This record gives sequence, C-alpha cells and structure tokens, in this order.
Amino acid sequence: MNSFFSHFFSYHTPTIISGPCSAETEEQVMETAIQLAQTQKVHILRAGIWKPRTKPGSFEGVGSIGLTWLQRAKKETGLKTAVEVASPVHVELALKHEVDVLWIGARTTANPFAVQEIANSLKKVDVIVLVKNPVNPDINLWEGGIERIAKAGINKLGAIHRGFSTYGNSDFRNPPQWQIPIELKQHLPHIPLFCDPSHICGKTDSLLQIAQKALDLNFNGLMIESHINPGKAWSDAQQQITPNALSTLISHLVIREYNPALHNKEAELIKLREKINMLDNELFDILGKRMQTIIELGIYKKQNNIKILQPERWEEVVKICMEEGLSNGLSKEFVSLILSAIHIESINKQSSVMNKEELKKLL
Ligand code: PEP
Ligand code: MN
Repeated sequence: MNSFFSHFFSYHTPTIISGPCSAETEEQVMETAIQLAQTQKVHILRAGIWKPRTKPGSFEGVGSIGLTWLQRAKKETGLKTAVEVASPVHVELALKHEVDVLWIGARTTANPFAVQEIANSLKKVDVIVLVKNPVNPDINLWEGGIERIAKAGINKLGAIHRGFSTYGNSDFRNPPQWQIPIELKQHLPHIPLFCDPSHICGKTDSLLQIAQKALDLNFNGLMIESHINPGKAWSDAQQQITPNALSTLISHLVIREYNPALHNKEAELIKLREKINMLDNELFDILGKRMQTIIELGIYKKQNNIKILQPERWEEVVKICMEEGLSNGLSKEFVSLILSAIHIESINKQSSVMNKEELKKLL
C-alpha cells in the first residue's frame, strides 16, 4: 500500500476530495485547484468531464479537453486528480492524462454491463477506483460493482456513499439511508468508505451536518463539490461551495476517536454501554410479551371469526403510541417506523395463529 492510499485508512485525517461538479473552462479548473491547494486541507481535485445528466439538453461535460486542464492543475498544485468514468474509452483517456483516482458514478453502478466493461478495461492497471452507490437503494448492486472491479485486480478500491434517489418531497436530494453504507462497511470492512454530502443534500446548508455524521460513522473521507463561483456553475449550482467555505467547513469537523484506548474515560463508556444493553434487554422482553398477547388475540379472533386487520383499532394504537413517543422526545419518523415494524410482525403472528400452526402448539 503506498502512502497516498494509506490516507484512506487513517481515522484522524479523513481524505478530502473536492472540486467542481463539472470542469467548465481551463481558468475555472486552475483557479479552483489553486484555491483548494491553498487551504492545505484537500488531497484530491475532482471534476466531472463527462456528465451523466438525467435529461438531455443540459450541460453534458466538456469532454477530454478537460483532462488536459486537470493534468495542468495536478502539475502546478501537486493535487491528485479524480474523474468520473462510465466507459472503457473514458478509462483510457483518463489514464493517458495521469488521473490518479477514477470514480464510477451512481447511474453507472446501477448497470452491471457498464461496470463489467469498465472492469475489463482496468485489468493490469494500477489506479485508485471508487465506486459510488447505485441510484437505487440496493446494497447487493453496490457490492456487486465493487466485486467486479476487485476481480479485475484493482486493490486500491473504495466506495462512495452519495445517497439514494427518491420520489416526492424530501429534505434531501438523495436521502442518505445510513443503514446501507453501515451495512456495506460491515460486509467490506477493509474497503475505505467516502461520503459525498453534496449529492445527498443538493444544497449547502446541511453539508456540515452530513459530513460530521459520516465521520462519526467511521467514514474514511469526504467528496464535497466546490466551485470558485457556485452561483454560476454549469451543473449542480445549488450544492457547491467556494474553496474558502470548504476550508471553514473542514475546520468545523470534529474528528472523534474510533476505539478509545484504555484511559479514564473508558470506565464511563463501559457503564453507559452496560446501561444500553440492559435497556435493549428490557425492550425485547417487552416486545416478546406484546407478541405473546398478540397470539392470544389471534386465538380469540379465530374462535370468534374476526378479521385480523381492524383499521380503526390500529389508528387508535398509532395515536396513543405517537403521543407517548413524542412526549418521550422521540421523532415522529422514528415512532412511525417502529410502529409499522411492530404492526407487520403482529399481523404475521396473528396470521400464523389463524392458519393453525401456532394454534396447534398452544392448545
Ligand atoms: C457527480 O459526482 O457530479 C455526480 C454526477 O454524482 P452521482 O454519480 O453521485 O450522481
Ligand atoms: Mn455534481
């Protein structure tokens, strides 16, 4: 592992990738690179050269001319460079222009044919490859993309979490669904994981909060879009920040310890974790008792020929629990999530009782 790649594994210095959504002009790329290098907080300069736009007609990237600008920026600032690749031709051109990091975009990861073609073009190549999550919340597709690249012999391999598309209103452009990157980290603990708060947020005001959360979840680095004049950006104008603002954002990030060594704080940590374990025990005890009662209710319903689903009763349960939950400081979203999980399990339990399996055991 060379020293540059080992950056990814340091919990104390998260690797920062930044730069414009798109390379627009040579001046814009150079000026962004110079300002980012001056912050001394950025390791890799990113810029989209070929842009996978959702609809035709919007700016689709400057193409390979942009690679010569990045090559110049690398030479003059010392920053490593990163571009998105979506085909073997992109890979070939990027490597020809000494690009250090190739990333596979969310729309491409969603297409195994395209990922496999890229993987085939990477055989015997020594380059860093980062795989963004697919647009849809499918962890297997994400892991599959990573696996295809790994099988091509790439061992400097990482993942980027950029959120998942959604339909309708959301506070996020691409809601983070944190459980998916957390699970990816559990399955692939040695793959460095980046967070891209820019494409998660779609705007600038929550970037810091998302970046901080990612670091607190053991992410190894961040990819944040920056532009010398964000309002005038040719793509993703609402989510880009100036290199200066990026520098401020990074200085506000708190780097917390991953696994505290033995020191006096640890006793308190152990005590709090024991308390959590006890509460979790109680929680599952109570859930078990609830389900036992649900089974008794199922027997009653079966004997009296009553349907499982009684919407008015469920509305009443939701109302009572929501009030209780909110008064205990829980969020509405959390209470709804818990209640629907409980409801599904209760329905399943009752259904199996009424289909006799549980009944046989109990009677
Ligand atoms: C980008 O990084 O500019 C981009 C297009 O990202 P994504 O693939 O996450 O949409
Ligand atoms: Mn973008």
